[in-house]
Amino acid sequence: MKQQIQFGTKQIDFTLSFLDRKSLAIKVHPNLNVEVLAPLGTDSKKVLAKIKSKAPWILKQIEQFKTYKPGTPPRRFINGETHLYLGRQYRLKIVPDKINVIKAYRGQLFIHATDTSKDALEKQLQQWYKQKATNVFTEMINEILPQFKKYKIKQPLLNIRKMSNRWGSCTPAGKIILNTELIKAPKGSIEYVVIHELAHLVHHNHTKPFFDLQNRVMPDWKKWKDRLEYFLA
Ligand SMILES: [Zn+2]
Repeated sequence: MKQQIQFGTKQIDFTLSFLDRKSLAIKVHPNLNVEVLAPLGTDSKKVLAKIKSKAPWILKQIEQFKTYKPGTPPRRFINGETHLYLGRQYRLKIVPDKINVIKAYRGQLFIHATDTSKDALEKQLQQWYKQKATNVFTEMINEILPQFKKYKIKQPLLNIRKMSNRWGSCTPAGKIILNTELIKAPKGSIEYVVIHELAHLVHHNHTKPFFDLQNRVMPDWKKWKDRLEYFLA
C-alpha cells in the first residue's frame, strides 16, 4: 500500500504492509524507498503517529543514501561513456555504418549506426536493451519455473516495460511485468525479481508463507536484492 505523510515542508512516501509480526519496523532502502512493516491489526493512526515521530530519522537516512549514491549523470551517448549490461560496465564505441547493429564484446559496446545523433543512438540502445531483456528474462523464467512445479502455476505471460518505481509486478491472472532496466543488473538480481514475482503467483502477498517459499527457491535473495538496489538506485 503506497502512502505518504507530510513532515514540515517534506513529504515522506512509504509502503505500508501489515504482517504477522510483533513490532512496527521502518526501513529506508538504498533506493530511497521507505518501507513500514506493522503488526496485523495495528490501528493506522498509531502507525502514522509512529512514522511522524521517526520522520527526522527517516529523512536523515534518505539524505545519507542520496550522498552516497553515485547517481547516474545524464547519458550523452558518446564514445567511451559507460553503460550497464547484466551488471557490467561497457564502454560505448560508436561506429558509423550502413546498418544498425549493437554488439557487446570485451567490455565494449559497439554501436554500428546509420544515424549517430544522440537521439538516434539512445533509441537504438533502448531497443537493444529491450530485445536483450526479452531473451534473458524469458529464458530465466523457463529455467526457474520447474522449481515451482508443485504449486502448479501456469506458464506466466511476460510483459517487459520501463517502470519508474518498481522492478517487477504481477497480476492475479498470472501475468508477470518486469522492468526493462533490470537487464542492466547482475543476473542474480534479475533472478531474485523473477523468483519474487513467481512466488507471488502462489502467494499474492508478503506473508510468511510467501517468504518461506522465496527463501527455499533462493536462500541468498537478500544479497541480490541489496545489490539491485545499490546498482540501479
Ligand atoms: Zn512482492
